[in-house]
This record gives sequence, structure tokens and C-alpha cells, in this order.
Amino acid sequence: MSLPIRNLAIIAHVDHGKTTLVDALLKQSGIFREGEEVPDCVMDSNDLERERGITILSKNTAVRFKETLINIVDTPGHADFGGEVERVLGMVDGCLLIVDANEGPMPQTRFVLKKALEKGLRPIVVINKIDRPRADPHAAVDKVLDLFIELGADDDQCEFPYLFASGLSGYAKTTMEEEGVDMQPLFDLILDRVPPPVGDPTKPLQLQVTTLDYSEYVGRIVIGRIHNGVIKAGQQAALVKEGGEIVKSKITKLMGFEGLNRVDMPEASAGYIVAVAGFADANIGETITCPNDPQALPLIKVDEPTLQMT
Ligand code: GDP
Repeated sequence: MSLPIRNLAIIAHVDHGKTTLVDALLKQSGIFREGEEVPDCVMDSNDLERERGITILSKNTAVRFKETLINIVDTPGHADFGGEVERVLGMVDGCLLIVDANEGPMPQTRFVLKKALEKGLRPIVVINKIDRPRADPHAAVDKVLDLFIELGADDDQCEFPYLFASGLSGYAKTTMEEEGVDMQPLFDLILDRVPPPVGDPTKPLQLQVTTLDYSEYVGRIVIGRIHNGVIKAGQQAALVKEGGEIVKSKITKLMGFEGLNRVDMPEASAGYIVAVAGFADANIGETITCPNDPQALPLIKVDEPTLQMT
């Protein structure tokens, strides 16, 4: 499978509507079969998250639009997870910044936007919840621009494209005057403004471990982006550990993302975000590479306590 790809992160202050907006994208991309009930808050499936009311684990979702696979990676907004935010932002080429039209930018907006700007990303701004009676979408755009300037955004970043949206009602639009129809304006903007991932499929394999997960069937699962090369289910691969030690093993499972599910893939090439099983002791920041010519990517530091994965 080699569909064109876009990899983007979604960043926002808690409750500004990330989950609802991704639900709307999922619904429109037809991931859910007709008549199938879309579960409430699909991205917030983790109990701990629900309990705390904040999104704390990165989740991968993929939607399709016009034969392009759009990987959407959720980003924790809380400063305690700064290391995770940086890793997630290192995996993508663009981001959606969601801002509540009534509240405007809030502390977590500032925190995650700063990280995104530092990574050189050019955010797409979504002024959300415009259906609410006290919403002031234009004032919110002005405040977002002030924040970009304050955070030292460069000229290109300050010329951010923006849309007005109601994730809850399932529409996005370019001006407040027009009628909101569906999410297509946002899909179009993503395809237009988020660059396709760079990476050379002819080079030796390099995949950086960004997130860890676990399944009782296949054990530890690593999620990351293929920076270079091609990875195949069943192939031998090498893991370069933090100290430089090399562990060889077989890729027992290779999965891509489709909606909220993981789907088996025979192979995937540079640019794809995949989930891989076979390396029981892989850790965040390490590189899965080819066994003949193991080359690690620069290690990413983990500066927060290891999270309990479910
Ligand atoms: P998250 O924390 O950023 O994932 O935010 P959620 O998507 O969970 O939304 C937080 C709350 O805002 C929920 O009660 C949603 O129903 C509500 N909400 C989200 N999007 C909209 C919207 O476009 N309009 C209105 N009126 N409410 C929204």
C-alpha cells in the first residue's frame, strides 16, 4: 500500500474540542459503516483520561480523503508531558491548532503552540465551537495571531491559514458569512498546506520508536514513523538501543492505522506511521533499522516518567 500521506498532530487546550473534531473527520471520511453508532469521544477511550479530564496519551487515528491517508496524532496539552509532545511533533509535518471561539487561546494552547513553532511546523488554525451563542470567532483569530507573534513565530508561521468550525455540528468554513456544510474545507486545507512526508524508501530502514503500546497477543508494540527505507512484516530487523547495543529480531506484526483501528500491512515505506511488534525491549527514542547496516537516528530524550500503557 502506498497511498499519498499526510502526517499531522492535533494540538489544543483541554476541552477546546479536539476529540469532537476528529470524530467529525472520521464520520465524513466514511470510516464508520453506515448506520453504525459512532462511539462518544472516540479518542478519549482511556479510563485514566476520562477520570482526569485531560488527554494524556498520544493516540493515532487515520482518515482518508481523496485517496490520501491522513494520520492524525493526538498530543497531550499538559506541560507534564512535554517530552511526549516533542516526540509526537517530531513525527509529523503539520499540525491543527484548535482554539475555542469563545475562550480564545489558553495556557495549554500556548504551551503546545510554542513547541510546534520551535519544531518549525506551520500550524493550520481552527477556530472551533462557533455555533455557541457567545462565540467571538474574529476576536479569537486576532488573539491567536498575537500569541504567534509573542511566541516568536516567523513570518511564514504568522501567515497561518484558518477556518471557522463547529466540530459538534460537523462543519468548517472559510468565512463567517457562508453556511457551514461539512468538513471538506478542512480536509482541503490539510491536503494543501501540510507537506507530504519526506523520507527515502531506497535508503536503509530507519524507524524511530515514538510511542509504546502492548497487546496480550503480540506483546510490546512500538509506534513510530518510518524515516527512511521500507519495512516488511516477517523481515529480520535490528534495534539500536540507547547505549548503542544492537538487538536483532523479527518483525512479527506490522500495522497501519485506519480510522481508530490498526490494520495489518505486508509492508510500509518511508513516511508512514506504523505499529510494529517483535521487539520486546524496545524503548522510546530508539531506532529500528536494517540488520546489515544498522544506523540509529539521533536518540530522543524522555523527560517524563514512563506511562502505564493499557
Ligand atoms: P477535547 O478535550 O479537546 O478533546 O474536547 P472535546 O472534544 O471532548 O469537547 C469538550 C466539550 O466541548 C464537550 O462537551 C463537547 O461536546 C463540546 N464541544 C466540542 N466541540 C464543540 C462545538 O463545535 N460546539 C459546541 N457547542 N460544543 C462543542
